[in-house]
Amino acid sequence: MDGRPCSKVACANDAVSTLTYVYADSMAVLGPLSRAAEPHSYDLCTKHSDRLSVPQGWQVIRHMSLGGAVDPQQRAR
Ligand SMILES: [Zn+2]
Repeated sequence: MDGRPCSKVACANDAVSTLTYVYADSMAVLGPLSRAAEPHSYDLCTKHSDRLSVPQGWQVIRHMSLGGAVDPQQRAR
């Protein structure tokens, strides 16, 4: 079963990726939607994955194996 909603408030889109905060390393890891909800992780839809922002000094690691997702940079052209 999939189709978990985006965890952003007031967003009704289906989540496509899971964001996990690694506090020890000041990293935000964005990867494919996890099977189970985990502590310190947030499910995000496509839009919010693209607009991901992290605290200053944090690093974002993107694992973009989202099943043939089109690179948003290319889609905009
Ligand atoms: Zn969203």
